[in-house]
Amino acid sequence: MKIPFASFLPMEKELAYDISSAFERVYTRSCYINGMEDKNFEAAFAKYCETNYCVGVGNGLDALMLILKALGVGKGDEVIVPSNTYIATALAVTYVGAVPIFVEPDIRTFNINPLLIEEKITNKTKAIIPVHLYGQPCEMEPIMKIAREHRLYVVEDCAQAHGARYKGKKIGSFGNAAGFSFYPGKNLGALGDAGAVVTNDKELADKIRALGNYGSDYKYHHIYKGNNSRLDELQAAFLMAKLPHLDRMNSERRKIADRYLNEIKNSQILLPYVIPEVEPVWHVFSICCKKREDLEKYLANYGIGTNKHYPIPIHLQKCYQDLNLAKNELPVAENISATQLSIPIYYGMKENEVSYVIDALNKY
Ligand SMILES: *Cc1c(COP(=O)(O)O)cnc(C)c1O
Repeated sequence: MKIPFASFLPMEKELAYDISSAFERVYTRSCYINGMEDKNFEAAFAKYCETNYCVGVGNGLDALMLILKALGVGKGDEVIVPSNTYIATALAVTYVGAVPIFVEPDIRTFNINPLLIEEKITNKTKAIIPVHLYGQPCEMEPIMKIAREHRLYVVEDCAQAHGARYKGKKIGSFGNAAGFSFYPGKNLGALGDAGAVVTNDKELADKIRALGNYGSDYKYHHIYKGNNSRLDELQAAFLMAKLPHLDRMNSERRKIADRYLNEIKNSQILLPYVIPEVEPVWHVFSICCKKREDLEKYLANYGIGTNKHYPIPIHLQKCYQDLNLAKNELPVAENISATQLSIPIYYGMKENEVSYVIDALNKY
């Protein structure tokens, strides 16, 4: 049997008609930027996230960067980010001129450890970016408490967690604002690059919209030195076609994850720990194994695709040499990068395929 790490095919087959009608609708109207598709999707996605405002942007990195810029975070400031995340989280901080300060994750959940945040706060700290990694919500209650006590902004990185909940409340609705990515492989993916910001702060939403539209509040009137980062009409129309299916597709992922959690029984494999307060959406199903490269090869021989999220931690990337963070300085992130393996989980994965992966792992 051959099981890819991920496949779009089942979703593509199912949504083909909706996607081509979305294309035809936009093509017939001949409006490609700043039109009604964007407006409609923004309204629908804000509602989905249980927030008041949504601003469509070009991608997830821009969403985070524009939020930080709009909050006035910049040169001389520090922003707390988890040491185990996709590099975009740190790059957003760097792009506004601030410095990312890494806080280690809880090895069991892979998410930022709230107990380790306070010791990294200085008088330069302006914000915390909790990342709901692999679709697992962060412990938002302690994080929000720390932020209130130290008067810090909270910018949620929701790029991997569309629809996840913490204590019944949708992620993205806790902080000052949240950034989403609709990169094709995300739980809600466009057919190209796309992203969004959600927030309950109207002033912040207006500023982010202007910043992503050449700093313009109305046509040919520029109040900021802005960027060009907008959600185009085609991507908005495609996202609108997919959004009604997101909860169902997330719950299919949850069924696969529940089987993995219940049926994978191998002392060499560490399963992810789900804190009781959350409803995850399983962007990634992440296991840890000391003999990771060996397990990777073993699964490949079974025809099972895997991936690593992420093989080199951010502080050891060449581009971040200037932070002067040596090896062993962030041992939890380094441990995850050396032992973590992501196994197949995607909408349309069949029961016998899930069983096949479980069998292979149990026989290892
Ligand atoms: C995908 C991702 C991003 C960036 O999103 P893009 O749309 O690719 O720019 C940011 N943060 C995390 C955690 C991501 O996984």
